[in-house]
Amino acid sequence: MIELVVLSGKGGTGKTSTVGALAALAENKVLVDCDVDAADLHLILDYNVEEMHEFIGGSIAKIVEDKCVDCGICPDYCRFNAIKTVADESRPDGERFVIDEYACEGCGICAHFCPEQAIDFSEKVSGQWFRSETPHGPLFHARLGIAQANSGKLVAVLRREAREAAEQQGRDLIIIDGPPGIGCPVIASLTGVNYVLLVTEPSMSALHDMERLVKLLSHFKIPAGMCINRHDLNNDLTAQLERFAIDNRIALLGRIPFDRAVTDAQVAGRNSIDHGNGPAASALKAVWGRLREELQQVHQHRSGQTRRIINIQDNVEM
Ligand code: SF4
Ligand code: SF4
Repeated sequence: MIELVVLSGKGGTGKTSTVGALAALAENKVLVDCDVDAADLHLILDYNVEEMHEFIGGSIAKIVEDKCVDCGICPDYCRFNAIKTVADESRPDGERFVIDEYACEGCGICAHFCPEQAIDFSEKVSGQWFRSETPHGPLFHARLGIAQANSGKLVAVLRREAREAAEQQGRDLIIIDGPPGIGCPVIASLTGVNYVLLVTEPSMSALHDMERLVKLLSHFKIPAGMCINRHDLNNDLTAQLERFAIDNRIALLGRIPFDRAVTDAQVAGRNSIDHGNGPAASALKAVWGRLREELQQVHQHRSGQTRRIINIQDNVEM
């Protein structure tokens, strides 16, 4: 089994629409949307939720009003300033202590030191994860609650579930739509993958974000390839990006031109391959052709067999 993660370093480069196209082009795969803070891959894949599960991301503290004697100890222990006072006429001092659920980091220190055991410290539901069916195979995706942390842990859950499904169903490829940035969720989506597809665009911010991302990738020593989306918007920056890729031993997998059909496909809730056959769709097919060769090489390298070819096939005519 090969795990491919698609990363961009920044949002808005067309990463998810590229993953949507790969979903239509590759066969026998499982899809995972690890951009858990802003999951949107399902929106272009005609999905149908088959399973919904709660995600327990950690614990949260809550003061039990009846037990609290307003001693005022707990705010001193909270290094996140999550314990505050609110007006309460019924209390002797005219105020009581409360915990701001959005500021609480769930460390549990306040509950440990409260002399009255007046702080309830229990698990909290931080979001949900889903297994959906799409015309292009199973999709694992999630919805993290507002201001909820632990997105890296949720990414790990999605990837574990996707791996189990791939093993049970005999699927050879897992395609992961990775989160933006270079933080914890990106590291969680990178760990143990076999190949990274970098989707970028010709802009200065994309170039800078790509430099930061490639620095991170160098620690993981994972083979990578790059495609440049909307390459025709700035030929100079496209050339700089390609030079950067060559200098960093990143395979150049192709250029995708600006094409309004990509946006039209998204508005219609479809991926750009199923939606039509414009210039971007043609370029994406060419990118997939090169990417498939890269994945086959990775598979051969891993298995130590030069003759056996992984069953990563096209889903459409090239
Ligand atoms: S330490 Fe316990 S009893 Fe004291 S104010 Fe905090 S919650 Fe109330
Ligand atoms: S659990 Fe930790 S972060 Fe939350 S209120 Fe208590 S001390 Fe503060």
